[in-house]
Amino acid sequence: MTNINFNKRINSLKGIGENRANLLQREFGIETIEHLLYFFPRRYIDRTKFYKICDLVSNSSEVQLVGKITGFREITQSRGKRLLAIFEDDTGVMELIWFRGYKWIRENLSLNTTYIVFGKINFFKGVYSIIHPEIELKSEFDKGLRTTIQPIYPSTEKLIKSGVSNKVICKLIEQIFFSCKGEFYESLSKTIINQFEMIGINEALLNIHFPRNQKLLSKSQFRLKFEELFFFQIQLIEKNLVRKSKIKGFIFKSVGDNFNFFYKNCLPFDLTNDQKLVIKQIRSDFASNAQMNRLLQGDVGSGKTIVAFMSMLIATDNNFQATLMAPTEILAIQHYNSLKNLSKDLKINVVLLTGSSTKSERKFIHQNLENGTTHILVGTHAILEDRVKFKNLGLAIIDEQHRFGVAQRSKLWHKNNLPPHVLVMTATPIPRTLAMSLYGDLDISLIKELPPGRKTIKTVHRLDKNRLSVFRFIREEINNGKQIYIVYPLIKESQKLDFKDLMDGYESISREFQMPDYQISIMHGQMKSSDKEYEMERFAKGETNIMVATTVIEVGVNVPNASVMIIESAERFGLSQLHQLRGRVGRGNDQSYCILMTKDNLSGDSKKRINTMVDSSDGFQIAEVDLKLRGPGDVMGTQQSGILNFKIANIVYDNDLLFKARESAKDILAIDPNLELEENYNIKKTYMGMKKRIGIWNYIS
Ligand code: ADP
Ligand code: MG
Repeated sequence: MTNINFNKRINSLKGIGENRANLLQREFGIETIEHLLYFFPRRYIDRTKFYKICDLVSNSSEVQLVGKITGFREITQSRGKRLLAIFEDDTGVMELIWFRGYKWIRENLSLNTTYIVFGKINFFKGVYSIIHPEIELKSEFDKGLRTTIQPIYPSTEKLIKSGVSNKVICKLIEQIFFSCKGEFYESLSKTIINQFEMIGINEALLNIHFPRNQKLLSKSQFRLKFEELFFFQIQLIEKNLVRKSKIKGFIFKSVGDNFNFFYKNCLPFDLTNDQKLVIKQIRSDFASNAQMNRLLQGDVGSGKTIVAFMSMLIATDNNFQATLMAPTEILAIQHYNSLKNLSKDLKINVVLLTGSSTKSERKFIHQNLENGTTHILVGTHAILEDRVKFKNLGLAIIDEQHRFGVAQRSKLWHKNNLPPHVLVMTATPIPRTLAMSLYGDLDISLIKELPPGRKTIKTVHRLDKNRLSVFRFIREEINNGKQIYIVYPLIKESQKLDFKDLMDGYESISREFQMPDYQISIMHGQMKSSDKEYEMERFAKGETNIMVATTVIEVGVNVPNASVMIIESAERFGLSQLHQLRGRVGRGNDQSYCILMTKDNLSGDSKKRINTMVDSSDGFQIAEVDLKLRGPGDVMGTQQSGILNFKIANIVYDNDLLFKARESAKDILAIDPNLELEENYNIKKTYMGMKKRIGIWNYIS
């Protein structure tokens, strides 16, 4: 039907040579004709209105005019040359001005020919002007596909500099339409198209680039977003990341001795209502015959550990083993200690396995896991090694999910003939929409309330020059018997420099707070884990007053006596990280503080982040701001899956559509798992094509 090969490189189009092709590939990953066809406008400007020069007002808005150039003038000033064109319509005269590229302008624009110009209006000494206008022959414009709703494509400085303007992109895309006569392969089935009253692919692609009118534009947006989300869901389902229906799971019939004894005699505090509710939800999952897949979101300090522990007790009561996996060794050890402590009056065996476990320890651990002597295994990724085999793993709990990829999670499913129940706990409050698209069919539980008696952490922003008063404050708190964290960023790009910052900071703190009056711990990623453990232990026991550290302490660390969190170069942290770090204090009943130290001149986004932290302690609200500032692709928990690289859909705003696409994909694959039915032919063809071409299919790495 067409005489164009969509897989051909874009330099086969007119107006684009090797250089521009390479540039487009580097800047936007556009390699083939198809990539370009699916390179969608970022926004549209309504150019329905043509202004008359006599109607212009000096509010510097963007306007479009039709007229002729009646003369050129070159002006040389001390600041350099500029080219000025006199532009007239039948109502008045104005100026077009170029500071660059005027040689080309001179040679290519002719006098007394009708042009359309577009740009921002300036008003200076009684004369209107447009600097570096978009300008085009009216006859050209009339010939093309463009309408009065003008597409504006994403662009970069480099593209502009190399002359790949918005107009150039438009013309390249026009060429594609002309060579295939506007006919494209339909990618969706008739059933879906009818079900959602969608427009066909030809109409959608035309109107997304060159909208005939607003209504068709929104219809094409709907259709193309749906399509994108739909194939994304098909992929998730095929990779088993989203399930068509629930998988069969172990049934834990009843709570038994361990749980009941603990509940009656050993509970260290009254559970909050939210904690009770979540335990109830988990119990009911256990009692159904489907595998549990539950995400437990609870802000830092909300008390997820006890919920995890009590769930594991139910597993052991039903003669199953349970495991708790943490992202760092420090955290695994901390969990191990608290589970040991909670289970001290129970007949339960808790064992720790980390990367530092010695060979002989491992042998012993492996043995006891396989013969069932070990009831609960706590550990790091080491748990995922193939050598680690359970007798009958019934429940896997993953703490602080954002450190683990989806792939690792699915690995846990395969430790047994039936998959264990899975509980994923996170303190990074992932907005529900994101959670859904990332974790598929995870059910979600929330712990919203904090244990009673907690005070809100007072958060303030201080500049580097306020350091002396910050030191005074630290001294006061230490005199009151409290402990302090000081955290430095350690971000990959400049690890050496960061490390120097940390060491410099440590030195200046050591000078300010000298031994023997003050004891200082230091902790960073390059230390041996036994040393880290030792320092953590000293701090936890209250033997040191200040913990100077990198973000290794970010996740989960629990020292209730620490009341001040000082974050150095806070502008360099992301919001979720700041929130995590702040959560290290405020774990006891005394007032706690978080001090965000920054340099003086902050960028807009940094300022917004800092202010959000100062104003809000609600993790969900913070996560929403984070999402808006960084876009879903960068939000914690999504990087490692690289999953959210959408061309047109937006996971945050197109929530409803995501849901529809998901249901639709599920329905189709439930009936026709291999897409073999005649009516799904288009879907299969498109999907196979996508799978072959990695470039366009980069949602999932
Ligand atoms: P997180 O959800 O961040 O993992 P933890 O489980 O570490 O939180 O709990 C934080 C602190 O709150 C711990 O010291 C824990 O003992 C305490 N805690 C948890 N639940 C309650 C409760 N219902 N009442 C009082 N303290 C609680
Ligand atoms: Mg925790």
